[in-house]
Amino acid sequence: MSTQPNQFYSTLLLVAALISAIITTIAWKRREQAASARSMAIFGAAMVWWCLMYAIHWLDIYHPSEFFWLDLTYVGAVVVPAAFLAFALDYADHSQILTRPVVALLSIEPLLTLFFLFTDARFGIFFAGKRQPETSVIQNGGFGFWFNIVYSYSIILIGFVLIFRTCLNASSIQRSQTRLILLGAAFPWVADILLILGLFPLPNLDPTPMAFVITSVTFSYAIFSYGFLDIVPIARSTLVENMPDGVLVLDKLNRLADINPRAKQLFEIKEPAPIGQPAEKIFGHLSELLSRYLQIPEGRDEIMITGDSPKFFDVRISALADKRGNFTGRLVSVSDITLRKEIEIELRNANQQLQLQISEIEALQAQLKEQAIRDPLTGLYNRRYLQEFLEHELSRATRESLPLSLVMMDIDRFKKCNDTYGHKAGDMVLQGLAEMLLETTRKEDLVCRYGGEEFVVVLPGSKPEITYQRTEIWRQNFQDQCISIENAEIHTTLSAGIACFPVDGDSMDLLLMAADNALYRAKQAGRNQVFCSDGSYSGRLP
Ligand code: GH3
Ligand code: MG
Ligand code: MG
Repeated sequence: MSTQPNQFYSTLLLVAALISAIITTIAWKRREQAASARSMAIFGAAMVWWCLMYAIHWLDIYHPSEFFWLDLTYVGAVVVPAAFLAFALDYADHSQILTRPVVALLSIEPLLTLFFLFTDARFGIFFAGKRQPETSVIQNGGFGFWFNIVYSYSIILIGFVLIFRTCLNASSIQRSQTRLILLGAAFPWVADILLILGLFPLPNLDPTPMAFVITSVTFSYAIFSYGFLDIVPIARSTLVENMPDGVLVLDKLNRLADINPRAKQLFEIKEPAPIGQPAEKIFGHLSELLSRYLQIPEGRDEIMITGDSPKFFDVRISALADKRGNFTGRLVSVSDITLRKEIEIELRNANQQLQLQISEIEALQAQLKEQAIRDPLTGLYNRRYLQEFLEHELSRATRESLPLSLVMMDIDRFKKCNDTYGHKAGDMVLQGLAEMLLETTRKEDLVCRYGGEEFVVVLPGSKPEITYQRTEIWRQNFQDQCISIENAEIHTTLSAGIACFPVDGDSMDLLLMAADNALYRAKQAGRNQVFCSDGSYSGRLP
């Protein structure tokens, strides 16, 4: 062995290995609690190996060749940068990047470096004959050596930047933790700078493994003493992962930054989630929705997605901003309200059905009511409605001191008409009279079929004289009216009696009786004439 055995160095390194072993154990035990604990454990294990091999190198024990133990340190050393990067990714909350292919990719360089190292005697790629005996500090080498140096420090730098960025974005309680992590990450750099500047006090000793041990101690202290903080992101992510609402995050360029399992299910997105891809590409099948929502920073809406069975969603869009208030993206939460909507639609349909049924019932009721007060043959009101109408009009006439007339008409010798032309022809005569009366009365008058061939007209507000004149017109019209049947023409006449409120009575019964009496007198006087109850007008006008 050409390097001087150095008890002090090996003791120092054994202590470092022990510390690393403790850290590895703690980290491994807590790998479920903190996102970064697993990578920390791998980092620590690599450090145990590195320090242990280096410690043995300094001991005066079994040395198959000059650099045997020194070369073995590399097995740990090549793992450290990759583990450091993995730690930084975990810590910066980018654990999802560490997929199996990425881990496989990260292990290529360490394996290649080990290959170059252990085949150096044959191919001369690693040291290329530039390794100096008597020293354990390698300061020059071939392609393999420099490739490893550049690669290792590059990925350590990437990790450093990730931690630095986390520090900038961290909340105030998290920030002190992140500062500590940042400090820890700086030790290997400081050690190397000291070494390059020749300021490191221990000759021939490579300070890098010990610097990394200090790093791992600092990291462990940071993540485990502030460990309670890890529970917050875990709790949050568990909440988001398991919540019944779909949640997705879009960055300011509308690329998918995060998506929870429920959202993947709702939008039928296949694994692995297309993180980083533009929303237009992922939700291309919802182009109409995208054009509506991609432009608005915030909002809430209910949307329907058509398909085999339409689905309804309640969509809430919230703008996300950094500490300076700059727009950084949007949080979209989506809840499936299909069931609620379906119930609403069913209810609405049932309600419409009910409304329809109610209107039908109302129409039927109106029809029934109409039927109850109408005469089916002539379509005129019947005696029942006359009663209702008269009661109402009489009380109004009393209240307002207005006159009211009641005309009772009866077709002359109708029995004979029936006997001569048949009952059907008689019906036509009745209908003819009804039509004529309807055409020649005012809308406030009431025409009703009182009995077989008896008709009553109520004329609210009409004085006896006017009533007489109008009845005369009806009598005249009816007399002139001719009903044609198959082989004959029917001519009939009517007689009428008039009673007036208040002179002939102030009740329905009195008025009806008075009109009936007048009608009787008209019949007695020879039919086809009009008589007033009080005798004021009678006979036929010329
Ligand atoms: P008068 O001049 O005295 O009134 O003689 P009239 O024959 O008209 O009187 P009467 O009371 O003896 O006869 C009324 C007739 O009216 C008897 C009945 O057959 C007929 N009649 C009643 N209702 C209807 C009906 O709905 N259709 C037809 N075609 N005839 C009816
Ligand atoms: Mg009669
Ligand atoms: Mg008659």
